[in-house]
Amino acid sequence: MTKSVAIIGGGPAGLMAAEKLASSGHAVTVYEAMPTFARKFLLAGKSGLNITHSEDFSRFAERFGSSSSRLRAALDGFTPDDVRVWAAGLGSETFVGTSGRVFPTAMKASPLLRAWLRRLEEKGVALKPRHRWLGFDGNGHRFETPQGEVLVTPDATLLALGGASWPRLGSNGDWVAWLRAQGVTVNELQPANCGFDVDWSETFRERFAGAPLKSVSTRSDAGTFQGEFVISKHGIEGSLVYSHSAALRDRLNRDGKASLVIDLMPGRTIERLEKDLARQDAKASFSNRLRKGAGIEGVKAALLREISQDANRVSPHELAGLIKNLPIPLSRPRPIAEAISSAGGIAWEEIDENYMLKHRPGLFAAGEMIDWEAPTGGYLLTACFATGLAAAKGIEAWLGAR
Ligand SMILES: Cc1cc2nc3c(=O)[nH]c(=O)nc-3n(C[C@H](O)[C@H](O)[C@H](O)COP(=O)(O)OP(=O)(O)OC[C@H]3O[C@@H](n4cnc5c(N)ncnc54)[C@H](O)[C@@H]3O)c2cc1C
Repeated sequence: MTKSVAIIGGGPAGLMAAEKLASSGHAVTVYEAMPTFARKFLLAGKSGLNITHSEDFSRFAERFGSSSSRLRAALDGFTPDDVRVWAAGLGSETFVGTSGRVFPTAMKASPLLRAWLRRLEEKGVALKPRHRWLGFDGNGHRFETPQGEVLVTPDATLLALGGASWPRLGSNGDWVAWLRAQGVTVNELQPANCGFDVDWSETFRERFAGAPLKSVSTRSDAGTFQGEFVISKHGIEGSLVYSHSAALRDRLNRDGKASLVIDLMPGRTIERLEKDLARQDAKASFSNRLRKGAGIEGVKAALLREISQDANRVSPHELAGLIKNLPIPLSRPRPIAEAISSAGGIAWEEIDENYMLKHRPGLFAAGEMIDWEAPTGGYLLTACFATGLAAAKGIEAWLGAR
């Protein structure tokens, strides 16, 4: 007998689950709060849609920190290669970029999403935009719709409501309170892949907000990464900062303080820098000594002075040390509304191996609303697809056993 499945949240995780369940003959309805589906997926497409990563799968599967082992079965079931085959099946061939990241050749999400929604409708999936879930009503779900409130009582439900970054695209984290009220442990949603506030002086902020720091090396508990980042009016941002953001956020939470340590001259050793600086005429201006001795000027020189106000008076030995290990003290992460993704969410111990909530049989969860995080690089989308698919298989098994 055909069973009805409600999928609440029409992002990558929910749509992937809908596809699997419709293919196996279930009556699937996707309820989405916004007037259109997968708005965050479309926004991800604005920067090229980094859909997955081509690195060795064993390495890929370790990118999810402490959640790697919990996600492994889902990722085994939908690997980065599967993502590429799936996208190609929707007419979006992919290519591997210089950093190993994988993008559709169109470098955007809209053609893929259009083809995907078309295929879902062909498979009989009912797509219901403008249906905002308002929480539980006994075994059913309440939705706000343009026609008023409706109550739906499906045979099984998948929640795929996303995290809380970029709330104007639809995922606003309202569900946290509703699940907590059901006794479900939901760890606080926090910004991931985010910038940080720095208490810049007015002068530095006015002159350098928007300026990129190019060819620097950066260090935190996460490791050492090279590249560039941007001074913002609030602090620092950019993909190099995002790669440290989980470690920096956790340290701020733990110790109340954290610094991102910058090497302004990764190409030169500290000994070489000290020698080059010592050779400069002591009577020359500080900026000239820095420029001629260390090749440092512009925003890099200003950052040095901003962090260490007496940098112009220290010895070449100390100055070389500062250039190689300049700590930018961070006040706090930027708000979650600006972050690329969220950490926190439904605690893993609440979910069984089929992505069903242990205390609410028939209710499943997938995607970013579960407590895992990953760096940028296509890991987020791949894990959302993979958990959507794993939850759909879980729903099939659960419905089949009833
Ligand atoms: C700017 C930006 C760029 C990104 N770029 C990339 C990238 O290149 N590669 C990558 O891997 N990841 C990227 N991401 C992250 C990726 O887009 C997300 O991890 C992914 O979309 C999460 O999928 P999801 O299905 O779990 O949730 P979402 O995509 O957030 O979808 C959840 C859906 O649920 C709906 N919803 C929420 N509440 C309700 C409710 N009460 N009732 C009904 N519906 C509701 C929302 O409207 C939304 O459509 C990017 C994110 C941002 C913000």
